[in-house]
Amino acid sequence: MSEPGPPDDGPTDAVELIDAPVPEHWWWRTGPVAPGPCVVFDMDGVLSDAAGRQHYLEWPQRDWDTFFEACGDDELIDEVATLLSLLDDDLRVVLLTARPLRVRPHTLGWLERYRLRWDLLIMRDWGDYSASRRFKQGVVAHLRSVGLEPKLAFEDDRRNVEMFHAEGVPCIYIHSGYYD
Ligand SMILES: [Mg+2]
Repeated sequence: MSEPGPPDDGPTDAVELIDAPVPEHWWWRTGPVAPGPCVVFDMDGVLSDAAGRQHYLEWPQRDWDTFFEACGDDELIDEVATLLSLLDDDLRVVLLTARPLRVRPHTLGWLERYRLRWDLLIMRDWGDYSASRRFKQGVVAHLRSVGLEPKLAFEDDRRNVEMFHAEGVPCIYIHSGYYD
């Protein structure tokens, strides 16, 4: 019988984090996570109740600037927030919103206020005026290319629900009423 020796240099349990470059405007909460399955949440109308500022978008004077500027005052949509908190810890959480990057401080402050769980916040980059569906479709491909595989998404815009389905991502429609 041999004497027990010092532990050998076997495999360590160090986690390999995503090291592929991601766009500069992607915002990690605490830093890159390990590749793996993720769940994608829209914000306005899914986690964030934008009902109090929808009137800024009423025809004929749609004021998108004021609409987005007010996003930090939204109430939380409790049911979806609870669902988010109950997800398996092994799932990465991606917040994917067509809000412009200039309201990231408002958005980060809001996320902190409600202590929501998330790993990566992706907003629309400066100068990106593409339709929400097109923007989000590009992000799905990009997430996959860095090793984050969307397993499920939550959306209140049916055009985005269709896009996720077309991309092979199950998507749960949340009714906000903003698109009726
Ligand atoms: Mg939405």
